[in-house]
Amino acid sequence: MVKVNENYLKLQGSYLFSTIAKKVNAYAASNPDKKIIRLGIGDVTLPLAPVVTDALQKAVEEMGDQKTFRGYAPDLGYDFLRNAIVTNDYRARGCEIEADEIFVSDGAKSDSGNIQEIFALDNRIAVCDPVYPVYVDTNVMAGRTGVFDAATGKWSDVIYMPCTAENGFVPELPASVPDLIYLCFPNNPTGSAITKDRLQEWVDYANQNGSVIIYDAAYEAYISEENVPHSIYECEGARTCAIELHSFSKNAGFTGVRLGYTVVPKDLIRGGVALNGLWARRHGTKYNGAPYIVQRAGEAVYSPEGKKQLADQVAYYMKNAAYIREGLSDAGYTVYGGVNAPYIWLKAPNGMSSWEFFDYLLEKANIVGTPGSGFGPSGETYFRLTAFGQYENTVEAIERIKKL
Ligand code: PLP
Repeated sequence: MVKVNENYLKLQGSYLFSTIAKKVNAYAASNPDKKIIRLGIGDVTLPLAPVVTDALQKAVEEMGDQKTFRGYAPDLGYDFLRNAIVTNDYRARGCEIEADEIFVSDGAKSDSGNIQEIFALDNRIAVCDPVYPVYVDTNVMAGRTGVFDAATGKWSDVIYMPCTAENGFVPELPASVPDLIYLCFPNNPTGSAITKDRLQEWVDYANQNGSVIIYDAAYEAYISEENVPHSIYECEGARTCAIELHSFSKNAGFTGVRLGYTVVPKDLIRGGVALNGLWARRHGTKYNGAPYIVQRAGEAVYSPEGKKQLADQVAYYMKNAAYIREGLSDAGYTVYGGVNAPYIWLKAPNGMSSWEFFDYLLEKANIVGTPGSGFGPSGETYFRLTAFGQYENTVEAIERIKKL
């Protein structure tokens, strides 16, 4: 008789957004006349930029022509895209990253979930609290639910690093040293950013302790402040302790197109083994390459015209962010984020829990946001609104909240 992977039974509840969708669908079904404004899930709403659709169309033509047709893509990505990434995302920022350290994929969600496979099960992980749920859930699925410490004879769980208003939503270095550290800046869900000096402390800590940082830079395009690093490789010594994840979803609207990449520097060695080689093996064995058409669209993102068009899209969303931030502050809310990230993190008013505030906003203003507790215990009493909506809807939503 086959046995199921019982680790799946240890996962907490159902995935946050499916719970929200159920509640919203039930409300919409019994209130068909109400216009619901959705500022919950972090999905983009602007159409693909013209440079992207042009590149997609051109690549489709090539695929339909015998002379330019291409079959399987190289597992690790086409050179034209890996070179464009290196030139624009790294060399232009003074970071030493080579094309063979870039692994092209279908997005940061898969990579952030899959990367733990190259590490032994008895590694101890540390995550921020609140956190993007994928990091924890994929470790639980793999069986990394607790680690036995022979010295103390105790099982230790995942280290949750509280991110609160008091620490500016940037975690303290943990006293008990983790092996794998997940950091995401600019942060989902709190919208906070980390300064280069603070990130350097994490890099030094990881190097001193032999830990590895998984650095999720999915929202790097939204950074507006000078002292905030776009890549962890801007910090000295990061090549020996950090893996970086990137997505084309939020900077270029590829949520439905699917493209991302992961950087594993060749200097990152643990237990005498180069992690670059391990990830290359994993990627080559389980993944057959992002589609040629999509990789050409990714390349177009780095063209001069592409950079301009996408900067305009980011500016559009950040105009929403500023509107939400200022509107809610004027209405007396305590508001964070929205300066280097497309997320606004607000304190639920009058001592409400985050799910109470979710129900209140849905029923009284017909607005959907995301309850902070869905991202971890420190998110309780907080609430996330995204700046990815359409401007007119965002304005209407804030006007409705102001009238409450
Ligand atoms: N990482 C973070 C922190 C995210 O918030 C998201 C999506 O919301 C992702 C990764 C997923 O990115 P992708 O669309 O490239 O899979």
